[in-house]
Amino acid sequence: MFIGHNAIALAAKKAAPRTNLGVLMGAAMLADLIWPILLLTGVEHVRIKVGDTHFTSLRFIDYPWTHSLAMAVAWSVAAALLYWIVARYGRGALVVALCVFSHWVLDWITHRPDLPLYPSGPKVGLGLWNNPIATIGVEAAMFAIGILIYRDTTKPRDRIGSVGMWAFIVFLAVFYIVNAAGVPPPNERVLAWGALSGWLLPLWAWWFDRHRDVNVGRALSPSAAA
Ligand SMILES: [Zn+2]
Repeated sequence: MFIGHNAIALAAKKAAPRTNLGVLMGAAMLADLIWPILLLTGVEHVRIKVGDTHFTSLRFIDYPWTHSLAMAVAWSVAAALLYWIVARYGRGALVVALCVFSHWVLDWITHRPDLPLYPSGPKVGLGLWNNPIATIGVEAAMFAIGILIYRDTTKPRDRIGSVGMWAFIVFLAVFYIVNAAGVPPPNERVLAWGALSGWLLPLWAWWFDRHRDVNVGRALSPSAAA
């Protein structure tokens, strides 16, 4: 899944209003942010095979450290702990853990059975990607709901808070359309470097989120929004 992960982060802002959106974005995307590093170092492997599923031309050979269920639990706990040490915001730490873990759940729904339960364990996946229309429908709906929740939870303090946010959303939507149009990356190295540029998304979200205020009364825990 692609923008579905971003949608989770946008929606999570309502549950942890004091947590910067960049942190939530990094959490929801974490597996896919570490993945290109392990691809480039040869620890995990992917092949580009046009028509591999009806939606994506990526064939995931192995990615036990970023995309197994057991490691998803481990990354969730580690991320929450790290966040708690830095921010001392328990609610935020819990939401960070859920965002990290949600990545595996969403990938499990979309991927065909290539997600291991644990490194070199049995592989699972419900294969929504075999149905492109359903994939795009589900992800677009999630993305729209995420945007609405985030926009309802926060309000821009200045132009960066509004223009920065909408530019981010348009960028993701265009990226998704190009991806869904089935333009595969020329080779695995280009794919890995492209995926590595995904690190810019949490930074971008962090930047405009700092220029938005929480709508007290809209967040799930108004007292935490101060
Ligand atoms: Zn993933």
